[in-house]
Amino acid sequence: MHWDSETDVLVAGSGGALCGAYTAAREGVRVTVVEAGDTFGGTTAYSGGGGMWFPANPVLRRAGTDDTIEHALEYFHAVVGDRTPHELRETYVRRGTDVVEYLESDDAFEFQMYPWPDYFGAAPHARLDGQRHIIPVPLPAETLGDLAERVRGPLDTDRLGTPPPDLLIGGRALIGRFLLALTRFPRARLHLDTTLVELIVDDGAVLGAVVEHNGSRRAIRARRGVLLGAGGFEHNQAMRDAHGVPGRSRDTMGPNTNQGAAHRAAESIGADLDLMDQAWWSPGLIHPDGRAAFALWFTGGIFVNQDGRRFVNESAPYDRLGREIIRSIGDGATSLPFWMIYDDRDGAVPPVKAPNVSMVEAREYAAAGLWHTADTLGELAEIIGVDPDGLADTVARYNSMVAAGADPEFGRGDEAYDRAFSGGESPLVPIDQPPFHAAAFGLSDLGTKGGLRTDTAAAVLTADGERIRGLYASGNTMAAVSGTTYPGGGNPIGASVLFSHLAVLDMLAQP
Ligand SMILES: Cc1cc2nc3c(=O)[nH]c(=O)nc-3n(C[C@H](O)[C@H](O)[C@H](O)COP(=O)(O)OP(=O)(O)OC[C@H]3O[C@@H](n4cnc5c(N)ncnc54)[C@H](O)[C@@H]3O)c2cc1C
Repeated sequence: MHWDSETDVLVAGSGGALCGAYTAAREGVRVTVVEAGDTFGGTTAYSGGGGMWFPANPVLRRAGTDDTIEHALEYFHAVVGDRTPHELRETYVRRGTDVVEYLESDDAFEFQMYPWPDYFGAAPHARLDGQRHIIPVPLPAETLGDLAERVRGPLDTDRLGTPPPDLLIGGRALIGRFLLALTRFPRARLHLDTTLVELIVDDGAVLGAVVEHNGSRRAIRARRGVLLGAGGFEHNQAMRDAHGVPGRSRDTMGPNTNQGAAHRAAESIGADLDLMDQAWWSPGLIHPDGRAAFALWFTGGIFVNQDGRRFVNESAPYDRLGREIIRSIGDGATSLPFWMIYDDRDGAVPPVKAPNVSMVEAREYAAAGLWHTADTLGELAEIIGVDPDGLADTVARYNSMVAAGADPEFGRGDEAYDRAFSGGESPLVPIDQPPFHAAAFGLSDLGTKGGLRTDTAAAVLTADGERIRGLYASGNTMAAVSGTTYPGGGNPIGASVLFSHLAVLDMLAQP
């Protein structure tokens, strides 16, 4: 075998996988990161929060939480059920504290508590005060020097062309901090525009990989192992179709380099796949470019289908809401787009406080047929092709539920998360101040979450449950520990960071 270069740990992807690269560098071995995109950070950098769900971690304990790992485990097991292996769930909930401690002992990293209620408020030991969630402390771009330009995003920069801010926040701060820490290790090599396309195997063990850069291929030997932290396959419509992932690639939030090349490379050498029809879903506000983008934090309005009927708790956590949209489409009750109906109390712009991709001029939505206004609900219904009687009836019933202070139909406001954006008050707001407005919504996702089945050290398994020596997976390349649920904000990045770390520790522990 001819090798073009050699390293100890080869990491594909630079989202949460940078934690694996950092671990390798800090533990004193050579590490090479290959990143398919022209910037570092993947979807992780697009996250405005960069939140991580690691119960009872040192940051939270210092902030005074009385949470325990045992309570968090009860919650996580109850929500996820037995769709994923018990030991994998245990590892995620228990070991988050270790990785936070590991990172915090390096001054490149700093985190703070950011209360964010768990997504299943009725499950046992749900943390309604949100004390399981931490975010990275923002990082001034100047700290990173020229490297700051190599951090992906934010979303507005990539989608709307706005200049990147001088302060890296959320996921960009997390990625910036990993890059800052990594550059202190001269033996860490990072390559942009370089895609892992093939794994090189001998006698059942992965010895390295073929990567592609500017159309030419190179073979990199990885003496300790290969970590695939290459995100999901959300941007590959053919793969979505083949695995039955609801939603379209154009409506996903992941970067367009998340095409599933690492999934395919591993599958072709016998890796077992699981949860391949799953994604982290959300409702999506449709923008004038025709793409539905992950939207949350609704301070009013209701969602209706073409019959003018509600079909969901509009204040539910976004993945639960997304799954209800999918179910309603499957039942034939809803088709896309569906509509947010709201009144004029805050003007014509929809009451969406966190659109993730900023809204552009209202007239552009109107010109694209996405936002409409009318003096009466009947006229509005006619314009958007919704049953007028259904809409009139729905709004009248909704307004009487608002007056009564409870939503017996969909339970809007029953759980802590539903009230997170209304200061703990009821999120029920009447629709009674004309003119009335409608905004078009679709189904978006934060990325797919099906992938390579692993053990608790993130080692990739065959269908027989045997380890493929030298091969590891994390983040959205790994079959998610959370299975078919999204237990709390910070699970995706948390799992990506943690299992990247554990993967490399395991590589280094091998003889
Ligand atoms: C607006 C927004 C906010 C969010 N907020 C949060 C939050 O606060 N907390 C949370 O936990 N989750 C959040 N999420 C979800 C979360 O960001 C993602 O699910 C998570 O970051 C995925 O991490 P990852 O490491 O698996 O992949 P990514 O971060 O997507 O990184 C994968 C990288 O691999 C590269 N790549 C792909 N294929 C190859 C290949 N073959 N070779 C080399 N490189 C390759 C990609 O270019 C990409 O850079 C949010 C998502 C969005 C869109």
